[in-house]
Amino acid sequence: MIASVFGGLRRRSWTALCVGLLTSVAAQAASAADCPGHPDAIGTSRTIVVDPRAHPIIGTMQYGKTLPLGDREVVLTFDDGPLPKYSNQILDILAAHCAKATFFLVGRQANANPEGVRKVRDAGHTVATHSQNHPTGMDRLPLDRSRQEIEQGIASVTAALADGTAPAPFLRIPGLRVNDGIEEFAASKGLQLWSADFPADDWRNVSANRVYELAMQRLEQKGKGILLLHDIQPRTVAALPRILRELKTRGYRIVHVVPATPDRPATPTEPQQWQLHPPSEMVAVSRWPKIPKFAFAAPTLPVPALSDLDWHTTDLGARAARRARGVPLPPVAPWPRQTTLPPAGTLAALPVPAASLFKIPDSARMTLLAASARRAATAQARSTEVSSAKLAGKSRQHGRPVAAQPPASVGETAQAAQNAGETTPKPAAQAKRNGRSVRVAGLKKR
Ligand SMILES: [Zn+2]
Repeated sequence: MIASVFGGLRRRSWTALCVGLLTSVAAQAASAADCPGHPDAIGTSRTIVVDPRAHPIIGTMQYGKTLPLGDREVVLTFDDGPLPKYSNQILDILAAHCAKATFFLVGRQANANPEGVRKVRDAGHTVATHSQNHPTGMDRLPLDRSRQEIEQGIASVTAALADGTAPAPFLRIPGLRVNDGIEEFAASKGLQLWSADFPADDWRNVSANRVYELAMQRLEQKGKGILLLHDIQPRTVAALPRILRELKTRGYRIVHVVPATPDRPATPTEPQQWQLHPPSEMVAVSRWPKIPKFAFAAPTLPVPALSDLDWHTTDLGARAARRARGVPLPPVAPWPRQTTLPPAGTLAALPVPAASLFKIPDSARMTLLAASARRAATAQARSTEVSSAKLAGKSRQHGRPVAAQPPASVGETAQAAQNAGETTPKPAAQAKRNGRSVRVAGLKKR
């Protein structure tokens, strides 16, 4: 009996494994076929169309939402170009892998190298913008200056394209230094404000190998997302081929993102797909919708009359005596006491809560439905998981989002290097200086 149960489990697991392998082989075959002459290319697995007005802010480095990516899907982004010396090499590497990316171009760079803008477009990548002059600390600029930076950047890239088309309404603010005014302005212009899900610190003075390591480690932490790189850095040129090869080896897929147009509707998605990690029953968070403002409807309910209440009864003292079981009671029962009540008629009616207070928003409904569906699926899949785990060995960890360091860029290197986590002493190192190395190193291991 036991043997047949385990036999059944094994057969199911093997079937799942074979289907998985076939799917994986088919996907690889598809990307190789899509990239003639480059059998080892990672390719671009799919293109998603997004509506900036429906989703005005994305990127979990700053926001609660990100692109609706599946597990192991990666979106490549490059900031600060075009700078021919390095941008052209980045384009060549991407072409050799048939990988499509999004380029956030600086208006001033576009004015200096308009040909570079057209190369990005002609290679089939998404052309987006990154301000006119790449000011540092745009969040501290007067809003008028920020608006000017954003609009001039778009105008310069539009001029460089020179075909009457405008860049995609995707905007990334230099150093991700946004404020409420910038966010509101971007939304009013129908621009989608892109943060990122993880950087690789390629704007800092680190080795190409370090850029590769950070890209892969941070991706593994999140499992999917938007990678922020810079196409004007030699270390990025050096790291990119290895990043793309490793992405393919580890089963990641490249996703290309384009904006919705009247002729190209947005890819249908569910609200929870825009979260990096949809709510899990294992994570304790409050998902009940908050009531923003307590509203009352016009009709009221009558206040009950005092005579409707039956608490004011002389029988209570007698009951208390029965419960006392021989313990002497005070000569006068301490209660019921006389209570001061408002004169009859002062409260004729009570307000009725508005019906809208009891509505559950659609987003919350989706979350609740998804949670129940997952609960059912989890129960069914539990037995299969046992043998799958044996076959697959160590399962991949899904870490919670880690606080990533905000990237800076052109002209921000020095400040960024000072602020960045790497220049901050590591806990263990700090502890050594403080003579507490053993205890803190032990904590660090956890
Ligand atoms: Zn930048």
